Amino acid sequence: MVFIAFILNLPYTIIGLVLALLSLPRSIDVHTKPFALIIHVRSFWWLDWVPSHKGVRATTAGNVALSGPKLLKNDLEHELIHIEQSNREPLIHPFLYFWESFRHGYRKNKYEVEAYEKAGNVYLEK
Ligand SMILES: [Zn+2]
Repeated sequence: MVFIAFILNLPYTIIGLVLALLSLPRSIDVHTKPFALIIHVRSFWWLDWVPSHKGVRATTAGNVALSGPKLLKNDLEHELIHIEQSNREPLIHPFLYFWESFRHGYRKNKYEVEAYEKAGNVYLEK
């Protein structure tokens, strides 16, 4: 099942790799369980113009987690929970995630609630 999810999420993983290249990558780690490429990047400059995304510390697309220079304790664990979520809902997860954000806003999005609860990282109001 995890392999099928990986294949179905491949388009998002490729987007994640493109975003990693845009974000000026520094180094890469491979995480197993869940399988993730953790790419440490220099800047999320391409997100700075998006309202409420100026302070982004990390983000995830498919099996790629991007960690930025402002990373705080347990932020990577938070991103790994998003990868588990996309493995649970292969292919459709990004659409369900954006629908949740549209209905409830970022912080009350059920996927964010789960990730902040399980990872124990902090949400900083912008
Ligand atoms: Zn999150």
